[in-house]
Amino acid sequence: MATKLPESPKSTAAPHIAILGGGITGLTAAYRLTKLLPNAVVQLFEASKRLGGVLFTDRQADMLVERGADSFQRKLPWAFQLCKELGLEHEIVPTCEENRRALVVRNGKLYPVPEGFVVIRPNLLGPVLRSPLLSLPAKIRLLFERWIPKAKGLDATDYDESVASFATRRLGREAFEQLVQPLLAGIYTADPEKLSLAATMPNILKEEWQYGSLRKAFLAAKQSSNPTEASASGARYANFVSLKGGLQRLIDVLAEQLPQENIHLHSPMTLVQQTPDQKWTTQLSNGSQQGPFDGVIVALPAPCAAKVVADVDTQLSELLQSIPYASSAVVCLTLKKSEISKPLEGFGIVVPTVEGSNIVAASFSSLKFPGRVPDDILLVRVFLGGALRPEMVDLTDAELQELAATELCDLIGAHGKPVLIDVVRWREKMPQYHVGHVPLVREIEKQAAQHQGLELAGNAYHGVGIPQCVRSAEDAAQRLAHYLEQ
Ligand SMILES: Cc1cc2nc3c(=O)[nH]c(=O)nc-3n(C[C@H](O)[C@H](O)[C@H](O)COP(=O)(O)OP(=O)(O)OC[C@H]3O[C@@H](n4cnc5c(N)ncnc54)[C@H](O)[C@@H]3O)c2cc1C
Repeated sequence: MATKLPESPKSTAAPHIAILGGGITGLTAAYRLTKLLPNAVVQLFEASKRLGGVLFTDRQADMLVERGADSFQRKLPWAFQLCKELGLEHEIVPTCEENRRALVVRNGKLYPVPEGFVVIRPNLLGPVLRSPLLSLPAKIRLLFERWIPKAKGLDATDYDESVASFATRRLGREAFEQLVQPLLAGIYTADPEKLSLAATMPNILKEEWQYGSLRKAFLAAKQSSNPTEASASGARYANFVSLKGGLQRLIDVLAEQLPQENIHLHSPMTLVQQTPDQKWTTQLSNGSQQGPFDGVIVALPAPCAAKVVADVDTQLSELLQSIPYASSAVVCLTLKKSEISKPLEGFGIVVPTVEGSNIVAASFSSLKFPGRVPDDILLVRVFLGGALRPEMVDLTDAELQELAATELCDLIGAHGKPVLIDVVRWREKMPQYHVGHVPLVREIEKQAAQHQGLELAGNAYHGVGIPQCVRSAEDAAQRLAHYLEQ
């Protein structure tokens, strides 16, 4: 439980800092502050009974199941570097080399994402033209990409457009619906008609502006690019890694770096307030007050952050509140491999909305990271809900299990009954970067900067992935340390 701190940090040289939220962002911020300010007293407050937030590994006797996030990008270096710094380098595991691709559903059948098709960019034309995922008119339309004129106003500051608008404009509606939409849904659980291209893939906009087309940009970069990069498809699985013991290992090791008496579980913060002497206090839902603190890092999803800062700055609170979040459900199932009739030549399935399915995606977790279940078993995580099907999260466990199992078995040709491992709901956990997100975040940061000693960090601002959350936490810790050292 939360402890009452000494009355005033002024009486001691050690700065007192509160971190709100015990996900990867809050824990990283806390850890970094202990390195930057070794004499600081860092207290971390987490609403739930456990640390980790969306990073949540369930380790059973012969099974390792990720209930939330399952991997992170290595090329965005921040999470990878943090693991190395924490001595976890030897526990980092790459995705299995075999079958590094996603499968897409078309008319109820599974086909691999064409080689070289990376989320929105058809790097290699041959595989796209040979793929049964697109009709002949759609392939011809896609070939014309290099001659499609640039968007008007592309060079304007803060030019933005939805991913759906961009992809339809450049690649054609069918390529968008059949490939781009499902691949993006697997990453952002978003509505692509609202998803901001400037916030999620700014390099794509830059390429159109600079070269006039994605094709020309690809050809210009080809000389220097690595051939395996060019032929990667889907979510570029070669860039993704996990930890041998699951991502919870990172959470556990981060938590070990902090004095255990400074980690407060079951501590839902409701309010941050400023004292007349420019310090900070926090309030728990039971009304108890903590502090004063010299600094606070709010490492919460934006809607929660909006509530806790409401007393400090209503405008900041309203801006934070305007970042929408989506919910999703994950149904974890196992199947006997001997009862599956179709070859599983990929890491998972993405389902275009136009298929009218109840599932968004399915990840073949045990093929992605081998050794997580006995060899004769397939571990699958089926994703439902997201921005386009929010009502799914309110179904009962039994309903979710039934939908997930039936649709999965149809798709992969499984005749046995899947065994349920877990149903997990992630309510309001995935921020939706809508068109206009970039200037909105700029506005939030400008407003937040008026409150010295108060920092925001998390997945709401500059990227939803684990690496971006780590960077956001590191940046917030740096800013706070800099302020406290002045
Ligand atoms: C289902 C799913 C799968 C994902 N998969 C991947 C993936 O494979 N790779 C990847 O890179 N990214 C993935 N992401 C995104 C990434 O995992 C998240 O963006 C990231 O983990 C968010 O971390 P966080 O610490 O900012 O927030 P959270 O993990 O949401 O943690 C916030 C914490 O704050 C606590 N909290 C909330 N309110 C309060 C309060 N008032 N007081 C105190 N504590 C509070 C919460 O209980 C929670 O523990 C996934 C996201 C989801 C939802």
